[in-house]
Formats: sequence, structure tokens, C-alpha cells
Amino acid sequence: MKADIVTIFPDFFRGPLDHGITRRAVEMGLAKIEVHDLRQFTHDRHRTVDDRPFGGGEGMVLKPEPIFECLEPLGLASREQRSTGTVKESVILLSAQGERFTQAMALELAEFERVVLICGRYEGVDERVAGYLADRELSIGDYVLSGGELAAAVVIEAITRLLPGALGNEASARQESFTAGGGAAETEKAGPDSTCSSGGLLDYPHYTRPAEFRGIAVPKVLINGNHEEIRRWRREQALKKTLRNRPDLLKGVNLSGEDRKTLERIKDPSSMSS
Ligand code: SAH
Repeated sequence: MKADIVTIFPDFFRGPLDHGITRRAVEMGLAKIEVHDLRQFTHDRHRTVDDRPFGGGEGMVLKPEPIFECLEPLGLASREQRSTGTVKESVILLSAQGERFTQAMALELAEFERVVLICGRYEGVDERVAGYLADRELSIGDYVLSGGELAAAVVIEAITRLLPGALGNEASARQESFTAGGGAAETEKAGPDSTCSSGGLLDYPHYTRPAEFRGIAVPKVLINGNHEEIRRWRREQALKKTLRNRPDLLKGVNLSGEDRKTLERIKDPSSMSS
């Protein structure tokens, strides 16, 4: 995959892209990430990228010309080809007004050949970029950042770790929080495997050595070697955590009969005795 980031702060990305799995994905040739300095596409002495808003109001707005000029030499397919899905390319504007970025979107974008991320600043970006250049606007959450750089780094990291070969262990991506697919059916026939795919739930809790730390022991079930019991405990913990922290996710999960019973028991512990 090729990713292009358009920003007025190219140095910002030295940190986020130079560590861990993102760095490895680049070194392995799975991803090529290029950062473009928007100021190089200005024509005045002050390399102006922003201007005052038409209609009045606070702050400054990123001008459209440098952004359009930055994208032109990239050799992207036309916006129409991109929007009809004829090509696996997407131009994304990071924006607090965008559609909320999710793991499902990360999975979708991980199959793209080309992703362009435009980082806004100040009060935002001239709306003609959203209307005529970008294919979608993405928000990483319901809060306002000062720039799209952090958001672009989040999107890049979420995508690159899903590129085949990037994690080293493909199974770990299947088990993670929010990852649909597999679900209850796969979990039930997991056999001697003690892990369970999240199927859209939050991940189950993880523990490592020491078995006892400052008097706090890891749950006994994890050290008894019974894969089936471990799998059941993990599923229950995942259900518990999802119910507590993100009950909204339960609606989209394919729950098994066993899951439903577990949920009833969690919600009403007294039902256990019946
Ligand atoms: N006036 C805008 C906020 C601009 S913040 C509003 O109220 O919606 C400046 C830039 O930061 C935006 O152009 C966008 O690129 C980025 N940004 C801010 N919050 C973001 C979020 N939640 N997700 C993605 N990008 C965000």
C-alpha cells in the first residue's frame, strides 16, 4: 500500500511512523509512506497556506490551491473512478466533521492500493477540498484536535498493522477488540485453542508473569491448562467488559446461545441458582 500524507508539519510524522509495527511494515516493503509539505505548493514569498474566512469569524482557513496542487502530481485516478470503486484509491480529509473512523474502516482501507490523508489546521480546510477533491471525511472521535496530523497517524497505524504480514501473527488481529467475523460460531468450535476471536466484542483481559504480583494473583483458570475452561472464561470476561464499557457494541455481535446465557448471568447473578 502507498500512503501519502499532506501536512504543514511534515516533521510531526518522524515520531509516529518510525516505531513498532508501522516502521516494520515500511521496512518490509508492505507500506510506502510519503509525507508532503504543503508549503512547497505555495507560490508566494511567505509560503502562505492559510487565509481569513469569507463571511467573517474567528481564525484562519487552509487555502484550497496548495492542497489541489499537491495532489495533482500524485497520479491518482479520477475522483469518479475512486468513488465508484473502480480503483482501490481513497483521498481522505481528516476532519472533526467526518464519519467516525472504526476498525471496520481500517480493514476496508487496508485493502486499498493508495490512501491519501489530508491534515487540516486552524479552523479547518476550505470546503472545496471536501467537496471536490476528497472522497471521504474521517474523524477519529468526537473531540476537536488542533490539527489532522495526530488523526492521520492514528489512521495510518490502524491500517498498516492490518496489512498481511505486518503483525507477524495474523491470528492476533482476528482476536482483537471490535474485530467482527469469526464470532460465536468460530469461538465454539475453537477446540483445543484457548483463545477466542472477539467477534466484535472488546478483547478479553491478558495477564503475564509473575503469577502473583504484590499479592495480586492472576485468575487461577489461566494456569490450570484447561483450554476449554480458559476459552469460556475469556469469552465471559469479554462479554462483561463490553457490557460495562461499550454496551452499544453488543447490538452488532453475533451472540451464541452460550453467550446469551452468560450475559443473563452477568446482568442478574441470582439467575445462576435456577
Ligand atoms: N473548526 C473545526 C475544527 C478544526 S480543528 C470544527 O469545529 O469542526 C483543525 C483540524 O484538525 C481539522 O481541519 C482536522 O483536520 C483536524 N481535526 C480536529 N479534530 C479532528 C478529529 N476528531 N478527527 C480528525 N481530524 C480532526
